[in-house]
Amino acid sequence: MDFRNYLRSGFDFSEKESLLLLKFKMLNSVLLLASFFSFFISILAFTGLHPIGFTQAMIDFFYGTLLTTSIFFLRISKKYFQFLSYTLLSITLVLFTFVLVNLTFNEGRIIWFFLLIALAFILTDCRGGMIFSAASIGVIILLNILTDLHLSQVAINTSVFSLLVGSVVFWFHAREITQYQKALKQKNSSLDVLASTDYLTGIMNKRIFAEVSKRYFNTAQRDATSLTLFLLDLDYFKTINDTYGHDAGDKFLKYFVKTIENTLRASDIFARIGGEEFAILISKMHQNDTLAFAEKLRNTTHSMVMEYQRYHIRTTLSIGISQGNQADSSFDDILFRADMALYEAKNEGRNRTSYIHAKDTITQEMKIKKERDYLDFSI
Ligand code: GH3
Ligand code: MG
Ligand code: MG
Repeated sequence: MDFRNYLRSGFDFSEKESLLLLKFKMLNSVLLLASFFSFFISILAFTGLHPIGFTQAMIDFFYGTLLTTSIFFLRISKKYFQFLSYTLLSITLVLFTFVLVNLTFNEGRIIWFFLLIALAFILTDCRGGMIFSAASIGVIILLNILTDLHLSQVAINTSVFSLLVGSVVFWFHAREITQYQKALKQKNSSLDVLASTDYLTGIMNKRIFAEVSKRYFNTAQRDATSLTLFLLDLDYFKTINDTYGHDAGDKFLKYFVKTIENTLRASDIFARIGGEEFAILISKMHQNDTLAFAEKLRNTTHSMVMEYQRYHIRTTLSIGISQGNQADSSFDDILFRADMALYEAKNEGRNRTSYIHAKDTITQEMKIKKERDYLDFSI
């Protein structure tokens, strides 16, 4: 097994999960090292090379087995991370408590508690870190009162004090990391919104529409449900710009989007895919309802009047419709038909709707004519 893959427990992590990835790496490293040393020490003890005694050797062996099992448990789901961290930290606290009471010949054994609180802050969060800090300090103070730990009072005081200071330092550090991570997440999501939103109208832009439409297409094909695409193009929009100025054109586009948005449901996709061109993608719409819906869009647009300075600005809308069918191999097939339909609507005089059912209704002649008109326009 590849070691990097081992550290990630075999999972993939998105950019947003960078902190979780770090925690996985940390936990897997600790599990590997700690289980190795637990087995190593218990074997040394079983063979009489280490003076911890049979009971502690058994505890260490059991602890090592538990850690090794956890490595596999962690690979089942990322969701187990939190639960496993708390469980392992709690078991480790119990182990260190045993060590504190039983291995009295080892004067440095309190140091293990520092490792525990550091891990608690790294693997969990501020709250988890504080819980294990308080528990560690509590255990030491309580055991010192109840039993003879064979440690001088000065050693106990120094340990408790430095554990206290250590936990405060770790707490500040963990809090900074959490806040930094939060700010980063917020920045990333606002960047996501910016990258997927049309700057003028605030609706979905062409880039994200290309992604979403692919997903909608795959779902519709898999479930054999209908998918309807409406391509909308405002008529003679250039005239609005030329007559009233670009600013009036911009305002009209915003007004148009707001008005059309009110006629849509939350699940409908509405995107700006060109200057004054828009797409509406609707799942599970019956074929009989498509023309009525397009009429509603057209009538809504037709009755829109925007007051600008002392003018009343209005225009009409042309619509091309197509629905997906089982013969389609990609969303582009639907897009192609809707585009041809829109071209037809424009060609037949604008302010109307055209619907193309299947590819074979598009004649070669239409294609060539459309191509030529577009070329003419681009010149
Ligand atoms: P048609 O009926 O054939 O669609 O005519 P049209 O004038 O609407 O179409 P054409 O493609 O010739 O021109 C589109 C115009 O849309 C040209 C461009 O200035 C304008 N436009 C594109 N994007 C924007 C924008 O963001 N703001 C403004 N104000 N105008 C835009
Ligand atoms: Mg256009
Ligand atoms: Mg237009």
